Amino acid sequence: MTHADNGGKPREACGVFAVFAPDKPVAHLTYLGIYALQHRGQESAGIAASDGEHLTVVKDMGLVSNVFDDRTLVALDGDLAIGHTRYSTTGSSMWKNSQPVFRDVGHTQFALAHNGNLVNTAELARDAGVLPGAMSSDTDAMAEWISRAIGEHGSDPEGALPAALSEVLPRFDGAFSLVVMDRSRIIGVRDPHGFRPLCLGRLDGGWVLASETPALDTVGAHFVREIEPGEMVVIDGAGVRSSRPFADDRVDPRLCLFEFVYFARPDSELYGRNVHQARVRMGEHLAHQAPVEADLVMGVPESGIPAAEGYARTSGTPFGHGLVKNRYIGRTFIAPSQEMRSLGVRMKLNPLKENIAGRRLVVVDDSIVRGTTTRKMVEMLRESGAAEIHMRISSPPYRWPCFYGMDTGSRSELLAADMEISEIRDYLGVDTLSYLPLDALVEAVGAPGAGFCTACLTGEYPVPIPPEAGKGVLEGGRTSAPEPQSLFQGAMFDSTAGVMPSEEAARDSR
Ligand code: SF4
Repeated sequence: MTHADNGGKPREACGVFAVFAPDKPVAHLTYLGIYALQHRGQESAGIAASDGEHLTVVKDMGLVSNVFDDRTLVALDGDLAIGHTRYSTTGSSMWKNSQPVFRDVGHTQFALAHNGNLVNTAELARDAGVLPGAMSSDTDAMAEWISRAIGEHGSDPEGALPAALSEVLPRFDGAFSLVVMDRSRIIGVRDPHGFRPLCLGRLDGGWVLASETPALDTVGAHFVREIEPGEMVVIDGAGVRSSRPFADDRVDPRLCLFEFVYFARPDSELYGRNVHQARVRMGEHLAHQAPVEADLVMGVPESGIPAAEGYARTSGTPFGHGLVKNRYIGRTFIAPSQEMRSLGVRMKLNPLKENIAGRRLVVVDDSIVRGTTTRKMVEMLRESGAAEIHMRISSPPYRWPCFYGMDTGSRSELLAADMEISEIRDYLGVDTLSYLPLDALVEAVGAPGAGFCTACLTGEYPVPIPPEAGKGVLEGGRTSAPEPQSLFQGAMFDSTAGVMPSEEAARDSR
């Protein structure tokens, strides 16, 4: 799949969930947990469960609700389970790359689910003596190294998995929030930078690990704490035990700033801050930074709306809706012709002409990555009679590709890679364009002293990108706008909205 598939927005890499709760319907709880994390990945879904004797995995391509039904879930029940929703950032979109991955090594069976992206997969494969191309993903590489270490600790099936993890985790570079299980325990791991979130929750009679806090709410667990960057927790009948497998000097918290801007659910809590409120504050800061005379402030559904509310409140300009999002588009629409591809945007967003005609609009969005869909949306607003269009973006220009678990494409695909703001403005066809500066964005998040990754905005990568990983991706910044006729070429329009009835849960996939 191309990066065009998401209409110019980066995609989440994955959502992970784990539950240890003997006497509870753990498979059903995991189903609910990964359903709440569906926005983090829509390509495949999977659950592994153990009854203490056997570890069983069910996974398939598709959305959580397509992969599982009551029949499959009943067959999976046991005392503990892990689950995963996937969008591929390494490895192709195919069944063999769906997760959890399963390995049977001597007396130990284990399953692993991963959110993030390693940057040293090629080195891991090489050091493991695996032929180039034989390892299909970074998660595969991790499973291979864990299996090897278990082989060395194999005489103790009970302790083999935690011991193997402690030994091999320091080899992994990049972003990894992991949930892992064997027959009798679940384990959570966060890389030393904590790029991707992972939290711990308490359930009556058990424990839960999840990428985001709404998954805890969904299963009736209460939030205990975030797993700390560089921490491993082992959870079994004896409770929760924490350890630090990484060298102290590697631990440097850098949560992905884009979790706040766009990726995380608005009802998530990260660094103790509510994501929705942070987005409203981004809009407030934007109104101070880039005021303009206008008649209406509107957000681009869904993730631009909280910032638009903040902008409107601070500027005193009325807030309203100018675009209606169709929440019931099927998962994937493959446009067969140019004409149909152009119509694809209208399938997802349709202008509310009565609110637009003759008005001076402030249009607020969270980010512009490739810009193709934004340009089409601006065209629609013009056709609907907008008198002026002032674009306001609640994050800085997105100039560098992400290597830590977001699918943003190569540098040559990023609209802002090498273009001036005035050139971007002209390409989009708006009257004015302003971005929120980085310091204002961080202030809006409201977690003083907290560490963030900002690499896609600054080019400063907390974990260096090996030349082999950066080849063809870091090169070739875009120096001119794409040709109009290339818009939507080969695009597949994608929405999760049809299976996410809650507006809060339904993620924008423009
Ligand atoms: S590069 Fe950007 S999207 Fe990727 S982890 Fe860092 S802040 Fe997040």
